[in-house]
Formats: sequence, structure tokens, C-alpha cells
Amino acid sequence: MALALAEQEMESYELASHGEFELVTSVEPCCQCLGVLMWSGVLSLVCGAHSADAEAIGFDERPRSIYWEQELVRRGISVTRDAMRQEAVEILQSYSGEIYNANSQM
Ligand SMILES: [Zn+2]
Repeated sequence: MALALAEQEMESYELASHGEFELVTSVEPCCQCLGVLMWSGVLSLVCGAHSADAEAIGFDERPRSIYWEQELVRRGISVTRDAMRQEAVEILQSYSGEIYNANSQM
């Protein structure tokens, strides 16, 4: 959602042509966000909670390659994990909205 809003604001799907962008997230990217990240032009990703933390409250974050971080780095996107992880986990645990893909595991 953040990337879509940034692209809308810049009136472009190529964020890299408008500057250097960093995406700061409360949790590691799910499989959908990972694909968008690779195409967005964002140069840096900072994430707090682990995918397992999101799954612990009911989100289905997979399938995703175990090499997701290496793939981003290979494509020139730096990755910082565990940024304020405990605070990010607490935010996840206080979440009371819809779980968008609960029970979708096959
Ligand atoms: Zn996602």
C-alpha cells in the first residue's frame, strides 16, 4: 500500500527515477510485497517484526523463498531487519482489524 501511494504521489511506477527511497515496515515483506519491492525502485528496506510474528496472529505470509533477503540484496536493495522488533511485535499483537488471508494455507 505504501509503495502504491508513493507511486501515485510521484505519478510514476519507477520510483528510482525520482530519487532514493527507503521503505520502513513493521514486518518483513510477504510474498506479494516482495514482488512489488523488486519492481518499485526502492533502494532500501527496513523491517521490524519477523514474518513468524505476523503468522502468530493469523496472517498467512507465504509462500516466499527462504532466500528473499539475498534476492533483494542481489538486486541492489539493502535490507535491515529487526529494527525495533519488540515494538513492532507489540503493534502486531494489538492489531484488531481484518486478517486478510486467514486460513488460506494449503
Ligand atoms: Zn505484504
